[in-house]
Amino acid sequence: SSTKERLARTGNAKHDNSAIAEVLVDALTRRTWVKEDDLAAAILLNPKQVRKALHYLEEERVVTRAHVREKDRDREARTRQRAEEHGVDEGIIMERIRNIDKKTVSYVCLNYSRIVDALNLRVGTARSELKHKIEKGPVTVLYRCTNDVATCGKRYTSLDAMRLMDMKTGMFVCQVCAQEVVQVGGGEDGAPPEPKTKEGLKAILSKFEKQIAPVQKQLERVKKMTPPQYGTLNEWTKARKRAADRSMAGAGGAGAGGRSGGLGIQYDQLEDTKFEVTLGLTQEQEAAAEAEANAPKMQPEWITRNQFEAEDGVGGKASGSGGGGGGGGG
Ligand SMILES: [Zn+2]
Repeated sequence: SSTKERLARTGNAKHDNSAIAEVLVDALTRRTWVKEDDLAAAILLNPKQVRKALHYLEEERVVTRAHVREKDRDREARTRQRAEEHGVDEGIIMERIRNIDKKTVSYVCLNYSRIVDALNLRVGTARSELKHKIEKGPVTVLYRCTNDVATCGKRYTSLDAMRLMDMKTGMFVCQVCAQEVVQVGGGEDGAPPEPKTKEGLKAILSKFEKQIAPVQKQLERVKKMTPPQYGTLNEWTKARKRAADRSMAGAGGAGAGGRSGGLGIQYDQLEDTKFEVTLGLTQEQEAAAEAEANAPKMQPEWITRNQFEAEDGVGGKASGSGGGGGGGGG
């Protein structure tokens, strides 16, 4: 079954999933790439429910998701603490930490340009299909005996048309009462057009245009705009790293404190592996986010804008000498 159905089923009937989707999309407009569990926590929803809804939104081409293997920092810390309490050798502690399995963590991000593309495609496809049906001609022609309904008024379809033809006059006559038969269904008789006639399809198209008008208007508006492009999680992480490096280089010497800069990213491996990164709310990352928020606005707005509410909520001190700044972002 489709995700849509699954979502409808699993979401406990009392929960409105379209409402969840709305909340999620709204929350995502104020974020870039975000860990799905963090997102769930931020909007006070069950992580499982959020994951299902995000999977649905992914299928609907609204969001992009990335699943990465990350070091389990919490477990590492627990392991170290326990071992240190028992006076275990540092070498053995390191060994144990090395043996801890990485965990799979999912990130999600709005994909603005794909949303627009998908929407344009859907609206366009629906419209051209309707137009094609109209041009192709009526699917069904309906006929009705002109005798009043109390007497006869029998209805015929195009399949009966051949039998209705009177060879002598070339007219369609009723097989029951021999009265003239006329075409209906297109609103000729004052009734609303039948859905499968040309007129009926035209009515559907005009209703469609009316309903889609607000969406169409919005699509026109964004046509001239450049959508935020966050790139892949990998690219985004690199951009963030560059921004952090630059801001730290800029603030170099100004601050005290021994914390070395960086996002806790295994930066060297980014080029080669699919994705190997340790993101998360580490102290370093908080510091980096803070530093970035205070950085001169050299990056596109979507990178520099303070949109990491959760992270920024905790005040980290940007300090220390960062690595040399990378190339331009964006
Ligand atoms: Zn008749």
